[in-house]
Formats: sequence, C-alpha cells, structure tokens
Amino acid sequence: MEIVQNPADMYAWSKNQARAGKTVGLVPTMGFFHEGHLSLMRKAAELCDLVVVSLFVNPTQFGPNEDLEKYPRDFERDLALVRQEKVAAVFAPRPDTMYLPGYQTEVSVKELATHLCGKSRPVHFAGVATVVTKLFNVVQPDVAVFGEKDFQQLAVIRRMVKDLNIPVRIIGHPIVREADGLAMSSRNAYLDPANRRAALSLSTGLAKVRELAAEGERSVAALAKMLEKYIHSFQGTAIDYASFVHADTLELMDIVDEKTVLALAVHIDGKVRLIDNGYVLP
Ligand code: AMP
Repeated sequence: MEIVQNPADMYAWSKNQARAGKTVGLVPTMGFFHEGHLSLMRKAAELCDLVVVSLFVNPTQFGPNEDLEKYPRDFERDLALVRQEKVAAVFAPRPDTMYLPGYQTEVSVKELATHLCGKSRPVHFAGVATVVTKLFNVVQPDVAVFGEKDFQQLAVIRRMVKDLNIPVRIIGHPIVREADGLAMSSRNAYLDPANRRAALSLSTGLAKVRELAAEGERSVAALAKMLEKYIHSFQGTAIDYASFVHADTLELMDIVDEKTVLALAVHIDGKVRLIDNGYVLP
C-alpha cells in the first residue's frame, strides 16, 4: 500500500493507473477510522480496481469555535486498519500543501448549504465542497464513496458534481451503527459513559418517530413535538435541529411522505455535537 503525502505525487500515481486501464475509487475521510469508514472502503473496492483513501482533517470546513484542534487523530492506528482492507493508496497531505500561500478560491453550493448544519456551521459546506473538488482534481477518481450519515454533505456533493460537470460517479453508503443503534462517528471518542447514554437519544428518537409514522401519524408538527420532548428527556441534550426535510431539496416538510428524512443534530453536555438521519417511512 502506498502512502502519499504530496498532491503532485498523488496525481502522478493516479495518471499512471489510468494509463494502465485501472479504475480508481476514492473514499474521502478525516481519519480516526471506525467500521463506517471501512465499509465505504469495501464498497469502493467492489466498484473499482483500486481504492484510494484520503485522510485529511480539512481546516477550512471547521468554524472558528469548532473542534479542529482537538479532532481525534491517530495516523498509525488508521494505517494499521487500512492495511487490512483492499486499499492501494492512502493520500494524507499536509494542510500547507493543500492550501498554498495566497489561496483564495472556493467552491460553494448555495441553496443546499443553507439548511440544517449550514445554519449553525456557516463555513462548513464551502470548506467541504472546496476540499472535495481539490481531492477529485488530485486523485482523479472514477467513483467516490460517501456515507449517508453525513446526509447533507452527500446532497451537496451530488449537486456540485452535477452543476460543475465533474466526471466522478458519486455513491452513497448506508449508516453503520453500533450494536445499540448509535451511528458510528469519530466524535463518539469524546463521549464519557453518561454522554454515551445521552447520545442514544438520536437513534432511538428516530426509531420512535418511525414507530408513530408507521401507526399512521403524518403530521410533522405532532411528530416533532413528541421527538423534542423525548430527546430532551436525556440528560444534557440540546437540540441544534430536528428537521423533517425533503430528501433531495432539504426543504422543510409539513406532512410526512416517502421522501421525508428526519435529520438530527444534538449537542451532548455542551461538548459534543452528533448527527444522525433516516427516512421516516420504510
Ligand atoms: P469523516 O472522516 O467523519 O469525515 O467521514 C468520512 C466519510 O465516512 C464520510 O463520507 C462520512 O459520511 C462517512 N461516515 C462516517 N461515519 C459513518 C457511518 N457511521 N456510517 C457510514 N459512513 C460513515
């Protein structure tokens, strides 16, 4: 497995593979791997000859008061995990090689980035869209695999690829969960045992909403009221948003239908912000 730091070397590697007729699948990540990341790598390996995993904690997608500095990192552990997968190369650039002095260009997806996480994280999606564009330009993948856990991110990337004629096939992959339902996340490493219990309010809240919807409740106002009360019954939870949105446009919905996704972002104990989502109807 190759470990590549320099963007120019990565580009040269990919060009060589393309010349040899190999297809490349990219899995963009910020590292600190869990089964969710590994499942994306396996999906990419099913679809392409070679898998490239990028590992880059992208500074431009963090706001000034967010967790860039303390974001969990363990490069050696990540490499050990990746070596067990069918991964041909890890691209782990240094921030100063991705953002050169004088850097001033960004990609922004206007409307989709204003909903949900965009409200509390105003710079986030421009940072994501920009770094993903850069990764696509450097790695030149045929396919890129993203998790549905970051539902809005996936919508933004799909829109961006369409709008800018980027020749990369975008594949979404289902959320991988712990045995008790908690969506896997690198940020779960921040949770102490009490906060770990509170973190279950997201997945079990989603399950409760699905239950009520299955019994026939279609009013978003009624479902939202129940959900807020339920989530706040867990100690230390504060809802950033609990929104019933259209899967494609992310616009708020009043009545639940087949396209309705419940998207959740909850602060736990003022320290950790977790997200989860899922379709309300089966
Ligand atoms: P991150 O390292 O958190 O930026 O995530 C890298 C990729 O892994 C993104 O496409 C995420 O959506 C995806 N991912 C993160 N957690 C999960 C999960 N629990 N299940 C599936 N995909 C995930």
